[in-house]
Amino acid sequence: KVLNRYLPKANRTSTIKTSKLVALTFDDGPDSTLTPRLLKTLKKYHAHATFFEVGQSVSRYPKISRAVLAGGNEIGNHSWNHPNFNSIGTAQTVSQVTRTNRAIYQATGTLPQYVRPPYGNITAAEGRAIEQPIIRWSVDSRDWAYLNSSKDINEVMHDTHGGDIILMHDIHAQSVAAAPTIIKRLQAKGYKLVTVSQLLNSQALPGLQYFGAHDYRTVGK
Ligand SMILES: [Zn+2]
Repeated sequence: KVLNRYLPKANRTSTIKTSKLVALTFDDGPDSTLTPRLLKTLKKYHAHATFFEVGQSVSRYPKISRAVLAGGNEIGNHSWNHPNFNSIGTAQTVSQVTRTNRAIYQATGTLPQYVRPPYGNITAAEGRAIEQPIIRWSVDSRDWAYLNSSKDINEVMHDTHGGDIILMHDIHAQSVAAAPTIIKRLQAKGYKLVTVSQLLNSQALPGLQYFGAHDYRTVGK
């Protein structure tokens, strides 16, 4: 990918309106039963999402990672085994990210563009060392705390506006059960469910962390 600023005018990606775009993201998978269930839901509603996958699960379930991409969804890097980057140091963080990039490439033939650090934690030095854009979120469904589909649905519907990145997890049955209603209700409000790359118009840069379509900050800030 080449950023617009380096391209002749005629070849630039036109700017997109994000007021009716929303990016659903699902962390901590792939899960052997729940992720395929979620993929069916996405397909049924012609929606796409981004899956921030854990490397050790990708190497266990490479077929599921391939199915994620085959459905037109995107895969991002969520570390090898979910440590807190703030407490393991730069060398270990780079190793976690590199090992997971490799696992995703071996499973799918595609390198992930983005990293989402576990718990959203990453230091400025680690961000510089990783050299991939960091994707955070603007809406936390708190699904990991609720483990309750109705509460997940209410939280997401209460908080979501155009340009948002919504955080959910495809390792909890309640979250996957909430997905059809969340998708239907967002679509009823006129939102299109797109991947992170589509929301950011493929213009994300390393060294920055993105919270939504128009909210990005230096890593570590
Ligand atoms: Zn996580």
